[in-house]
Amino acid sequence: MTSQQKLASKTDNRRVRKRLDSLFREYIRKRAMKRCGGCERCHAKKGSYKDLQTAHFHSRSKYTLRWDERNAVGMCGGCHMYLDSHPEDKIEFERQILGDDYDKLYVLAHMTTKQSPIDYILVEIYLKQLLEQLIENPVGYVEL
Ligand SMILES: [Zn+2]
Repeated sequence: MTSQQKLASKTDNRRVRKRLDSLFREYIRKRAMKRCGGCERCHAKKGSYKDLQTAHFHSRSKYTLRWDERNAVGMCGGCHMYLDSHPEDKIEFERQILGDDYDKLYVLAHMTTKQSPIDYILVEIYLKQLLEQLIENPVGYVEL
């Protein structure tokens, strides 16, 4: 691969990641609206998914979990800020939401993408399917 090709593929990857981030944020916040009509922590009702933030349990820098729907919830700005500055409460909330998946996510968060490669195309197809399912299944609120 020439240096020019490498540069082009880096730019492509950045563009793809941006698109996936956007799909992911849309899905997580719409899912929160479906689950409880608003913030998944304090349950404050919101008029639109756009009033929510996407709160990641493990940082977005952990690529192995960046687009894993278990790794994020929709939250109001207040809860998001509170949990990001209270790590012990954040872990407790994470355990409550994730149950048995807590340990699985912990392991994945500490793996590299060499150990667990990411197929961007598959991630995009998967996220689009998740979004479609939200629309196709108007189940209403699900109690947390
Ligand atoms: Zn809240």
